[in-house]
Amino acid sequence: PCESVNSMPWFGMDIGGSLCKLVYFEPKDITRDEADAELETLKNIRRYLTKNSAYGKTGHRDTHLQMDSIEIRGRRGTLHFIRFPTSEMGNFLALAKSKGMANLVTTVCATGGGAFKFEENFKKEVNMSLAKFDELDSLIRGMLYIEMTNPRECYYWSHPTEDELCHKVPFDFSKPYPFLLVNIGSGVSILVVYGPNNYKRISGTSLGGGTFLGLCCLLTGCNSFEEAIQLATGGDNTRVDKLVKDIYGGDYGRFGLPGDLVASSLLHVCSFGQMNSKDRRNAVSKEDLARATLVTITNNIGSIARMCALNEKVERVVFVGNFLRVNPISMKLLAYAMDYWSNGTMKALFLEHEGYFGAVGCLLQFNN
Ligand code: ADP
Repeated sequence: PCESVNSMPWFGMDIGGSLCKLVYFEPKDITRDEADAELETLKNIRRYLTKNSAYGKTGHRDTHLQMDSIEIRGRRGTLHFIRFPTSEMGNFLALAKSKGMANLVTTVCATGGGAFKFEENFKKEVNMSLAKFDELDSLIRGMLYIEMTNPRECYYWSHPTEDELCHKVPFDFSKPYPFLLVNIGSGVSILVVYGPNNYKRISGTSLGGGTFLGLCCLLTGCNSFEEAIQLATGGDNTRVDKLVKDIYGGDYGRFGLPGDLVASSLLHVCSFGQMNSKDRRNAVSKEDLARATLVTITNNIGSIARMCALNEKVERVVFVGNFLRVNPISMKLLAYAMDYWSNGTMKALFLEHEGYFGAVGCLLQFNN
């Protein structure tokens, strides 16, 4: 069943509203005969992709996510995880062309809105056709495959509100069904999954990762997701939001609620509710505004997810998507909120390859 090296390279691409995710399978079991027969361009492409971890100014390979010695379609090799802003598609195609991609006449598996938007560009610039796959099918297929292949993929946050005690704990996902899958990308999609080929999209919201980043840039003048998260890390949303205590007076204790920061994040009466006052506005920092934006968006998603889980009678809620990238604040807040408001009956779960499942699922569907 093994496929020849020259039918490679194997890519899976998820071209989203914010980020383009690219997974590349590097075969490691190439025989001498295959190596001799392998096209020079293919070798060059492999060398280029696997030697660097940064491509141009905006492309990155997430080396910490790389998966070695895995088997796909009878070949053994390494799976690489690469991302760049979708707005850089033009530069990406120019680069691919300069590496000789146009001479290979390959088909690339693609999903996401960009698979439609950029189809012509792929054809024109690099002579590639896109084999298009459904976004949600790919997401689920990719996540189930990676979860099965990587024993430490799924985890939860224990003691999410206590800095010193809080840590990741591996979660046994061998009997997952039914579960809720909350994909937080630019926007949010919520699916209920009953089995590998049995799911439905039940809800979503347009207030997602793209909203967080957009509002944060507006409010703080920051220019990147990383910067926005860094600002939020040093901020205090209680200087921006109106909390229970701001309205009722008194302390958290009277309401039988813990007084720490994460917990107090849940006691909003009203997000941004203090910002109608000029004095308060003058007293807040960029950091506070970034934190408030992050907490607002996260709590809203958590609350919709919890209602969906309740409706569908599911206990496991898996959160994925690049909004959670380098973003422990949101993961811990989701973990705490799910646990607290469900009296401990629901569990928030997370996956290490958070934003890459659509691209992986796409790669797996090729030739099937
Ligand atoms: P999409 O498929 O809609 O692009 P993703 O799952 O890739 O969705 O998530 C996009 C979101 O991830 C952004 O809206 C932003 O909140 C967050 N994000 C994480 N890292 C980055 C980054 N390097 N650049 C832009 N957005 C990022």
